[in-house]
Amino acid sequence: MIQRLLSRIEKQGYKARILSARHTSSLRQEIEAWRRKKAIPEELDEDYLHEFDFSTQPKTFKPKSIIIVASPQPIVRISINVNGKSIPVTIPPTYNHSTDEKVKKLLLKAVEPEGFQIAKVILPWKSLAVHSGLAEYGKNNIVYIKGMGSFFRLNAFYSDLPCRTDTWIEHRAMERCQNCSACVKTCPTRAISSKRFLLHAERCLTFHNESLRGFPSWLDPAWHHCLVGCLRCQVICPENKAVRDWTENRGTFSKAETALLLDSSEKEKLPARTQKKLEELYMMEYSKILSRNMKALLRNVENS
Ligand code: SF4
Ligand code: SF4
Repeated sequence: MIQRLLSRIEKQGYKARILSARHTSSLRQEIEAWRRKKAIPEELDEDYLHEFDFSTQPKTFKPKSIIIVASPQPIVRISINVNGKSIPVTIPPTYNHSTDEKVKKLLLKAVEPEGFQIAKVILPWKSLAVHSGLAEYGKNNIVYIKGMGSFFRLNAFYSDLPCRTDTWIEHRAMERCQNCSACVKTCPTRAISSKRFLLHAERCLTFHNESLRGFPSWLDPAWHHCLVGCLRCQVICPENKAVRDWTENRGTFSKAETALLLDSSEKEKLPARTQKKLEELYMMEYSKILSRNMKALLRNVENS
């Protein structure tokens, strides 16, 4: 059943692995160990790690396995309009959730006729993908999958499907990272260290430009090049050679819409059609920070 399920997923262009559900506690212990070593900045813990769902069990079944699935995703380009100029703006892969529902439907279609169930679960997906053997860590703490590079989005599901051939691979960086430091050299904030495995997340642009807290004084807004997130260490990475030019244009914001986005951090003030465009880009949850990030991008365009 597991092999049939994995091949069915792969036929649709996704990649997946299955592990025993008992590893949920190993994932929790890993995070607790990092906390004890004070390797996780408090703000990161508050903003992201509390979302992990280590203890909630699905209502209708006892999980026996975890299915981790990667869906390929391109870089998304949109255009904004300012002073009669159309300016391209980049959104990195992973922000687009449109494949989440497709993956869920595909899994349900495969397991339900066999009498099994699935339920989405929020766990440390990158860590899970590496432990399952699906992905490998880069020195930049981004995860990579053969054939997809880092251009994918992960999802995980509990299932009552028994997992007889379990895998648990210890974390390690890709072999290629041993003789490469392209990401270390290109990272403008020095978030990537050759001396420790964990990224200095408190220095990563992604953490700061997704946050409502405001940019720290040391952060040079000129480093921004995406609407949210940062692509510098992914684009330079040789593991992404085959995918780094995969870009899709997904819409334009008119002069009036751009002006509203620049002015307003309140989504309720945006016209319904603009809200819909943001929803389709999965940017509504970032509506409060779009104005700040767009202003930083525009300053960079003006100064270039
Ligand atoms: S750029 Fe080089 S060191 Fe960094 S993740 Fe890619 S292969 Fe590894
Ligand atoms: S995402 Fe950007 S800021 Fe973060 S580690 Fe990579 S290059 Fe550095």
